[in-house]
Amino acid sequence: MNFQLTDDQRALRDAARTFARAEMVEVARECEAKNQPPSRAVKKRLAEMGFLGVNMPVAYGGMGLGNLEALLVLEEFAKIHPAVAFPVFESAVGPIKAVERFGTESLKRAILPKVVSGDVVVAIAMSEPDAGTALTDLKTRAVIKGGAIILNGMKRWSTGAGTADGYVVYCRIGEDKGAKGIGAVYVPAGVKGLSFGAREELMGFRGTTTADIFFENVELPADHLIVPEGGFPKLMEAFDLERCGNSTMCLGLAAGALEDALAYVQERSQFGKPIVDFQAVQLKIAEMAMKVEASRLLIHRAVMGAEHGFPSVADSSIAKCFANEMVREVTGAALQLMGGYGYSKAYPAEQRLRDAWGWGIAGGTIDIQKINIAAALVGRRFDQRR
Ligand SMILES: Cc1cc2nc3c(=O)[nH]c(=O)nc-3n(C[C@H](O)[C@H](O)[C@H](O)COP(=O)(O)OP(=O)(O)OC[C@H]3O[C@@H](n4cnc5c(N)ncnc54)[C@H](O)[C@@H]3O)c2cc1C
Repeated sequence: MNFQLTDDQRALRDAARTFARAEMVEVARECEAKNQPPSRAVKKRLAEMGFLGVNMPVAYGGMGLGNLEALLVLEEFAKIHPAVAFPVFESAVGPIKAVERFGTESLKRAILPKVVSGDVVVAIAMSEPDAGTALTDLKTRAVIKGGAIILNGMKRWSTGAGTADGYVVYCRIGEDKGAKGIGAVYVPAGVKGLSFGAREELMGFRGTTTADIFFENVELPADHLIVPEGGFPKLMEAFDLERCGNSTMCLGLAAGALEDALAYVQERSQFGKPIVDFQAVQLKIAEMAMKVEASRLLIHRAVMGAEHGFPSVADSSIAKCFANEMVREVTGAALQLMGGYGYSKAYPAEQRLRDAWGWGIAGGTIDIQKINIAAALVGRRFDQRR
């Protein structure tokens, strides 16, 4: 078992780190202050640097590297701010992966190169008002008629709603109830019948947009069917990689918080000496570092098990669950170590804590991950309905 990154992996991570620190800090500050996603020019710049195509196949304009490489890059952006990491997240682990793996060739040719070039960011639309954890209760329906797909229904909480360039929409396609009737379609922004509700005000996640999405007789070409009914397990396979992306957003937030706190405790003096000289501070810093390192190892283990494919539900749920809890603890500890400065909006500690909380709800709650983990351990699913 080798825990070392290769020279190439280190070089890629360092390039992402140098770039993110040089060019993304100011962009992030603006995203946070104005609560606006990064501009198209920023996405084009990310594309120009190759950061939007790390694990995209070469045939579609990507670098064709593995998922680990993509997550190494993502962590460096997440250390700066989730808003600047989002375009990287969506291109590397987002629903575009379901298109890449299961979509029709014509759909892939139409959108994958545009993801790599920064022209298209694709969001995921699964949740509905009555289908959150009970996702298989979703009601949005696609009917395939002649050569077209007609979509009706609504979605809630989609990150990117109203500003993304396309949506992977989970919907009911067949007559079967529950998971069996679920598939997914691709809905490009701007199609007739697609509209959005008012923008949600969230606790964190500034620099991303969230809103209800409405589909009223949205007509799509047949090749926009990503997976037909019966394809829910495939969608969940792709989602196992997204869980590792969610975990990496947590890891970046926590690692960034640790880095800032470590610098702060060496600079800040009380009682005539740097506060790092107090043992209680040393213990806190050590605990934070242990949690960050353990989280990184769990994430890397999950993706290394399936470098170019999708990780297992057990590995990705363990990585996500640990990261979701870890980031709340580490960003909270960092804020505390920075005292009044931690609580001030002049520094990123409070933003990191606000953003940290959301990841243990997004992508399946912490408790539901634990149920997945227990199911994997005993080798059977637990029926939540009976
Ligand atoms: C920041 C953020 C970003 C998001 N981004 C997206 C997105 O891009 N696309 C998208 O489709 N959705 C997105 N979501 C929605 C997210 O997937 C749901 O919020 C999540 O699945 C939980 O659903 P819910 O909010 O309806 O809560 P509920 O399902 O109502 O759950 C409420 C509570 O009950 C608990 N609970 C429910 N059922 C069980 C059970 N069987 N056993 C034990 N506990 C249970 C949950 O753990 C939770 O604590 C996002 C949410 C957030 C907060």
